[in-house]
Amino acid sequence: MITRLSQLFVRTLREDPADAEVPSHRWLVRAGYIRRAAPGIYSWLPLGLRVLQQVEVIVREEMDAIGAQEVRFPALLPREPYEATNRWTEYGPNLFRLKDRKGADYLLGPTHEEMFTLLVKDLYSSYKDLPLSLYQIQTKYRDEARPRAGLLRGREFVMKDSYSFDVDDAGLAASYEAHRQAYVRIFDRLGLEYVIVEATSGAMGGSASEEFLAVSATGEDTFVRSPGGYAANVEAVRVPAPAEQDASGIGAARPVDTPGTGTIAELVDAANAKFPRPDRAWTAADTLKNVVFVVTGPDGKAELLVVGLPGDRDVDMKRLEAALAPAEAAPLADDDFAANPGLVKGYIGPVSVVDGVAVAHLGAEGPLKLRYLTDPRVVPGTAWITGANVVDTHLVDVVAGRDFTSDGVLDVAEIRDGDPAPDGSGPLSLARGVEMGHIFQLGRKYAEALGLKVLDANGKLVTVTMGSYGVGVSRAVAAVAEATCDERGLAWPRALAPFDVQVLATGKGDEILDAATTLAEELDARGVRVLLDDRKASPGVKFADAEIMGMPTSVVVGRGLADGVVEVRDRATGERVEVPVAEAADHVAALVRT
Ligand code: ATP
Ligand code: MG
Repeated sequence: MITRLSQLFVRTLREDPADAEVPSHRWLVRAGYIRRAAPGIYSWLPLGLRVLQQVEVIVREEMDAIGAQEVRFPALLPREPYEATNRWTEYGPNLFRLKDRKGADYLLGPTHEEMFTLLVKDLYSSYKDLPLSLYQIQTKYRDEARPRAGLLRGREFVMKDSYSFDVDDAGLAASYEAHRQAYVRIFDRLGLEYVIVEATSGAMGGSASEEFLAVSATGEDTFVRSPGGYAANVEAVRVPAPAEQDASGIGAARPVDTPGTGTIAELVDAANAKFPRPDRAWTAADTLKNVVFVVTGPDGKAELLVVGLPGDRDVDMKRLEAALAPAEAAPLADDDFAANPGLVKGYIGPVSVVDGVAVAHLGAEGPLKLRYLTDPRVVPGTAWITGANVVDTHLVDVVAGRDFTSDGVLDVAEIRDGDPAPDGSGPLSLARGVEMGHIFQLGRKYAEALGLKVLDANGKLVTVTMGSYGVGVSRAVAAVAEATCDERGLAWPRALAPFDVQVLATGKGDEILDAATTLAEELDARGVRVLLDDRKASPGVKFADAEIMGMPTSVVVGRGLADGVVEVRDRATGERVEVPVAEAADHVAALVRT
């Protein structure tokens, strides 16, 4: 069947939508693929829906190929299972919660571990029933703090989620590997440039996990790679602690006057001017910076946390959030320092010197009882310049382990280009990406919480071990659009394009429209999916729309017809060739099949 543009439910827009931050969002809206219904919530128009469905087909084929079986759960879910795993609370404000007319609590599913676990528990009871992998392609809801970039971060979105059930760890490892391979095939078929990186588990819990990130300058995730093959989301990088140092030659911590040195740069300048080192200049890395955060748990309870780290590095907020999840952190506001007189802004340090003696100021031992966590580089024996908890005063030669101890390690400092890879595989380089998929070895957390056990070969009840695997299906539409579009519009790869070919009848007169229609019919007969631009519009409008809409091939039936030729255009390369009308259908059909 030929689709006629004159009949298709679509309007291309000349103006960018006001809220468009990234090209894929701009073009998907302008080309008439999606329309915003509310922040982070989109309607799919015919062109967009065709792309979405093609992503679904690819995902479905690859999941079926590893023996996973498709099911579909409701989006509207009861509270109790999520209460049993504590995620009703842990998901915090990201969860859409609602009540039915009787006052019972419900939620709109953000992910479905609980429901799958309970379904398998309902129906299966023996090791002979396992291994089992189930999946669905279904709508998810998350009240994201920052819905962004159209489909890339929606509050309603389509996810493929699957779950594996095994009787032992070896089984889980095999199920995980099968999914990993399926994901490789899915993202290869989508034509995305992607990397597989070590990841953190977030609100999901569990142990080993990896993410598939589409490499993209506009991505929200930052990942690192080393020449030796290390690859990780920055959130997952664990900086190894250096060896402890011998501090026996370092004198006692002593206060120094450092007026007007509330910043690290001012402090380093003052240190070099007033108490220079004999061997080299002081640098920011010699200072211990202490940053105060308000950490709010999913239950709404807030506490202060002080993070101590080398002064040449900032706290990376995404690493901090990943480390503290499900709690959320925000820097202590200036006004709130006033309410905490023990925290002298710009001069905070782990110890105070009282009558020549260092005494704890932060941490469990300190008078404030504030949680104090330090960067892995702050190992015993390292000496620091740090705040004296007195305005305009710092302490020199404050030695970790000797003068202070922290309440633990918190590895949240920024990772920089050139930092060594944790596994010794060379210097790291940073890049940005969009998380397309995430695979987890969940282990027994959910099965334990919900009582999913089966009888093993010896007749003993064992807790099932699970994996959980997600693909952002609607996000993939945007990610592919983002990777392929240019300054003129969308430019779909063949695997995802809503139509294979756009045939443009450009010029007045029945003859041109008749020839274009005939060509469209010939293509259709060859199994090519055709969009025929039969509108009464100028050639300029049709050319521009074809570029915005982004079918991989277009055929212009117009002026050349008098000479018996049509023009075949490649959207991605811009290449144009003239082809005799009589050969056009075979020529284009061959292109589509390559
Ligand atoms: P992110 O870190 O981007 O918030 P996540 O780690 O919370 O994602 P998962 O729970 O791992 O996401 O969900 C599985 C997949 O669903 C992700 O890999 C991503 O492709 C997709 N996804 C998650 N959140 C959204 C969203 N708000 N909009 C669109 N797709 C999403
Ligand atoms: Mg994830």
